[in-house]
Amino acid sequence: MDYRSPPVAELLARNALFEVRAFVAGEWIASEETASVEDPASGLEIARVTICDVDLTRRAVNAAERAFSTWSTMLARQRGQILRRWADLIEENVDDLALIITAEQGKPLAEAHGEILYGAGFVHWFASEGERANGETIPSHKPTSKLVVSMQPVGVTAAITPWNFPSAMIARKAAAALAAGCTMIVQPSLDTPLSALALVRLAEKAGIPAGVLHVLVGDPVALSEEFVADERVRALSFTGSTEVGRILLSKAGKTVKKVSMELGGNAPFIVFSDADLEEAVRLCIEAKFATSGQDCLAANRIYIQSPLYDRFCASFAAAAARLKVGHGLDPESAIGPMTKRSVVEKCRAHVTDALSKGATLAAGKLDDSAGNFVTPTVLVDVTDDMLIVREETFGPIAAILCFETEEEVIARANDCEMGLAAYVCTRDLNRGIRLSDSLQYGMVGVNTSSFTGAPIPFGGWKSSGLGREGSRHGLSEFMELKYVCFGNLAA
Ligand code: NAD
Repeated sequence: MDYRSPPVAELLARNALFEVRAFVAGEWIASEETASVEDPASGLEIARVTICDVDLTRRAVNAAERAFSTWSTMLARQRGQILRRWADLIEENVDDLALIITAEQGKPLAEAHGEILYGAGFVHWFASEGERANGETIPSHKPTSKLVVSMQPVGVTAAITPWNFPSAMIARKAAAALAAGCTMIVQPSLDTPLSALALVRLAEKAGIPAGVLHVLVGDPVALSEEFVADERVRALSFTGSTEVGRILLSKAGKTVKKVSMELGGNAPFIVFSDADLEEAVRLCIEAKFATSGQDCLAANRIYIQSPLYDRFCASFAAAAARLKVGHGLDPESAIGPMTKRSVVEKCRAHVTDALSKGATLAAGKLDDSAGNFVTPTVLVDVTDDMLIVREETFGPIAAILCFETEEEVIARANDCEMGLAAYVCTRDLNRGIRLSDSLQYGMVGVNTSSFTGAPIPFGGWKSSGLGREGSRHGLSEFMELKYVCFGNLAA
């Protein structure tokens, strides 16, 4: 295979899970109206997918409501058995699913494999967690009465998912909703619908009943307007930008839905001078360049304590320069194309702004002729007034800043609208604990670059979101508490 221009459309056509029809009410639906899906590396069309209209959206909600009455009354163990089959099928088909991610999203194939297994982990986890949706009994405050609290599925739910993790974000949401006993309508990003459709092919094969899970591909505003306004949809789970999250929050307010929002990040990565330099560079490279930088957990502001600053910058810039940029199907590629042109433009704007305000380029270059590819770029002597510090870049541009004291860096790291994830490197355990207590972020990694997975409550503070995914908390996003008071029990 020529890795500079691999035959992506041909590979997809031979892929057993390649699907372009929508999945509504247990049926695969093709329509005249289709939209183009492109290989972000070449801009070439690789598929045309069925576009759903508002009528299909209504059909999905109707079917999801009908299916809820049977799915929600099954034993949690029975739902778990079906979900476990789905998880097994996802794992068995990891090669086909990963190829679909790389074809439409662009990330290197090894990372796409990782995403599929990460997503399957949530399906396994929630298959079991559904059986542990325990309620509670409360010592009564009233004579001759008994107080009981149970957890019940909220009803029909909807998920809107982004293009950077086109498979795992769906698995994470749908597994929790279905395990809770809810039904779900998924609206994937128009840029990456193929991963969603492939996943539901396997859901169908696993025996998830018709009407329980739907995938609608289409104009995100028109489709979501329909199901967000629908009273019967009782929960909305969104992953994407804070800007769109705000719009959806206000729309969901009209029918007072439960909402969970996984929104933007702007993660500080803080390295104290007592840290092991080599290890800190390795962790920071991972935290910055995973998913080619298009990751809500990506290190966006890298703060290095002054005694280590020069050595860290030199070593980090050298490591970044070694990352190979290329098509995701090339096994040597560490950085794939940006999925969307808008990401390339934002990278460019952030680099230009930083250079105009006094930052220095330590690695990388701006290359107009590279299409959606962005060379890993390292900016040093970055200051707090630069755009790259104020906003999430969501691309492979690293911004390195210098700090002196612990107090100072905590204040600077917290001076941010976002609060998703933060990283700290130090050998001082007390300092690690102090920092993890003081940082206003939903997730803090101390001496690690990777901490997500099914058992942990993933989510952010402040403008980074509401609610949690994964863990027992993820299940409760799709459940309501019901309190019952049995009164006058005296014989
Ligand atoms: P986006 O908000 O533009 O799109 C997300 C989804 O919303 C897509 O499916 C899109 O089609 C849909 N959408 C867009 N406009 C809409 C509207 N007006 N009404 C309804 N739906 C709409 O975000 P993106 O560019 O796809 O993703 C990048 C952002 O997502 C980044 O800010 C990133 O940090 C965030 N993100 C967060 C997490 C997390 O878990 N916190 C994970 C991945 C991405």
